[in-house]
Amino acid sequence: MRTEEARPVHLEDYRPPDWLVETVELDVSLDPTATEVRAALTLRPNGNGAAPAPLMLDGESLKLRALKLDGAALPPEQFVATPDRLTIAQPPQRRFRLEIETVVDPSANTQLLGLYRSGAIYCTQCEAEGFRRITYFPDRPDVMAVYTTRIEAEKADAPVLLANGNLVASGDVPGTNRHFAVWHDPFPKPSYLFALVGGKLACVEDRFRTISGREVTLRIYVEPGKESRCVYAMDSLKRAMRWDETAFGREYDLDIFMIVAVSDFNMGAMENKGLNVFNDKYVLASPETATDNDFERIEAIIAHEYFHNWTGNRITCRDWFQLCLKEGLTVFRDQEFSADQRSRAVERISDVRGLRAHQFVEDAGPLAHPVRPTLYREINNFYTATVYEKGAEVVRMLTRLLIYALVLPGRHARGRRYWQLRCARTNLSPRPRPERARNTRPAEQGADGRSARHRTRRARWARPAAQARRWARNRARRADSDQARRNLHVRRYRRTARAFAQSRIFRADQAHRQPWRR
Ligand SMILES: [Zn+2]
Repeated sequence: MRTEEARPVHLEDYRPPDWLVETVELDVSLDPTATEVRAALTLRPNGNGAAPAPLMLDGESLKLRALKLDGAALPPEQFVATPDRLTIAQPPQRRFRLEIETVVDPSANTQLLGLYRSGAIYCTQCEAEGFRRITYFPDRPDVMAVYTTRIEAEKADAPVLLANGNLVASGDVPGTNRHFAVWHDPFPKPSYLFALVGGKLACVEDRFRTISGREVTLRIYVEPGKESRCVYAMDSLKRAMRWDETAFGREYDLDIFMIVAVSDFNMGAMENKGLNVFNDKYVLASPETATDNDFERIEAIIAHEYFHNWTGNRITCRDWFQLCLKEGLTVFRDQEFSADQRSRAVERISDVRGLRAHQFVEDAGPLAHPVRPTLYREINNFYTATVYEKGAEVVRMLTRLLIYALVLPGRHARGRRYWQLRCARTNLSPRPRPERARNTRPAEQGADGRSARHRTRRARWARPAAQARRWARNRARRADSDQARRNLHVRRYRRTARAFAQSRIFRADQAHRQPWRR
């Protein structure tokens, strides 16, 4: 339990971390009241941080068992370990390996943050600052590492052992009634995306072939007996994966994608890399009891967490002030997905009604805050309608601007015509273009006594109106065909995707780097 008052965190105080973590090897031995966690971190000084700097790792309610540096036990006078912090004042200023052994009690964890028990299932929740309740770690989004997780448990207690990434090994522990599983996630990720699940779970399995032809295994784990109620969630997942490929050109990047539905969960769902954890009311539905709204909500939340795989997990935030970058953008993506699945107009109307009912109220009251705050005491208080819903509207606006800024100038002539047509349709006069030098020759007299320049000008003004009528006719014809309308959306998204592909943020993720870091 923390005793001191939470100190406010200011955006302007941001400093790059002094130490970076390259790899994390976790060995978790599950036990209801005394789970042993052995973490081996490969640390190196950050070139952009202060040097020489002490090593300070975050913790919360932790008990340190043992500490080793490069394989040798660290003498007690060289470090200070409290439940909330582990400090090594003078670490070697080079790459080194730190082994930390802690013990946690999942059954006593009623905050449902870190490692806890939901019924008889072991489960984790690390966003925003839960990983520090599992082991000492620089628990901030800009420290990204490659994780390998070994989980060990009683076979009867937890027959299913899951973590992020791909399964690389599993088997029995000789001479005991325990077994283990080793998971490796090849993509560097912040600690808040770590997840681990163990317990008696039933599984529904399906397969998905990605756009480049890779086979991905899809699994939804639920409490035994509830398998038949996952059908819609699985179908939604497959549609979301296909949509992200066609609309945004984003393909799934691991061999397996898992969803675990548990009954005790603080948030609606959590996008841990490759292992999403859901409150089971957002996964389970049967036609006998669920309403249309329930089905829509399941589809939207399954899609939202899946879309985070790119917007949030592969393209990450620098700090928690950027929460809206991942949440606003992903809400925008799930709204667009829902709009394409059914009616775009109905989706938009319901989104705007949601804004008016929740976000406008928040914005007009004492809890009003910008989508990117400049100060927080407790980041968990910032998972708000403003960050999610208003954030999505900001992204929607930026998308429009991007299309106008990147796509239209590329087709300069058509862009200019577009604006002229818009003005003609709305009875606005476009600003006359300045005379060009080549048009300054003396006016020739035509048969009707008017100048040639006057005639070409009249033609230029008359054409847009005729074209606008023709466009309206064509549009009405196109609207007759649903398929054609769908193709129109696909074309528009391809165009958006191309615009994004040329933008800095999406180009940078190809190299698994974050441009704002440098
Ligand atoms: Zn989200």
